[in-house]
Amino acid sequence: MIAAIDLEGVLAPEIWPHLGDHFRVEELHLTTRDVADFEELMRRRVEALNRAGLTLARLQEVAHDVRPYLGSHEFLDRIRRRCQVMIISDTFHEFAEPVVERLGGYNLFANQFEVDAQGRIAGWKLRIRGQKARVVQGMKSAGFKVIGMGDSLNDLSLLESADYPILYRPVPALRQRLPQAPTANGLDEALQIFVGIFRSNGGRI
Ligand SMILES: [Mg+2]
Repeated sequence: MIAAIDLEGVLAPEIWPHLGDHFRVEELHLTTRDVADFEELMRRRVEALNRAGLTLARLQEVAHDVRPYLGSHEFLDRIRRRCQVMIISDTFHEFAEPVVERLGGYNLFANQFEVDAQGRIAGWKLRIRGQKARVVQGMKSAGFKVIGMGDSLNDLSLLESADYPILYRPVPALRQRLPQAPTANGLDEALQIFVGIFRSNGGRI
């Protein structure tokens, strides 16, 4: 069994608003919760960064301060005894690798930036955007059962394709799309749902 879990809003805070606070760039407070079109969202973020003259290295100094939510390391530690854990996110490797390391060092599947000669963000490679369903299907066709957990509409395809979708403090629009899926309002509740799934599978990994 594999748990495919979203990062931001589930295991750790959103990184872009953290950058927005630090550098006082209003547009960085927008997230996938606010702007559904990810390309449009990224265009606005990158334009704002370049206007502010911020390089990727400067952003990383601040992004790498982000700490996991309290309890998320322990949550993953408990479920990893019963399943493989992968973190699948619309975040960027250049921002999120350290927080994933702090969570206990799991496989992260995320997007990547393209940087120009001056070190500014010039573009992005969306390895994950729109690919979550395909990643889950790949795991399923390799014979794994998949538990998916996410909080926002950008997790919809992950959750729809998982054998066991779990909504984590979901935005209302996500709950509407998956009314049958169990909802966790904290990691303790999420752990109970995971344990129920493990039990229903006879404890098989
Ligand atoms: Mg999220």
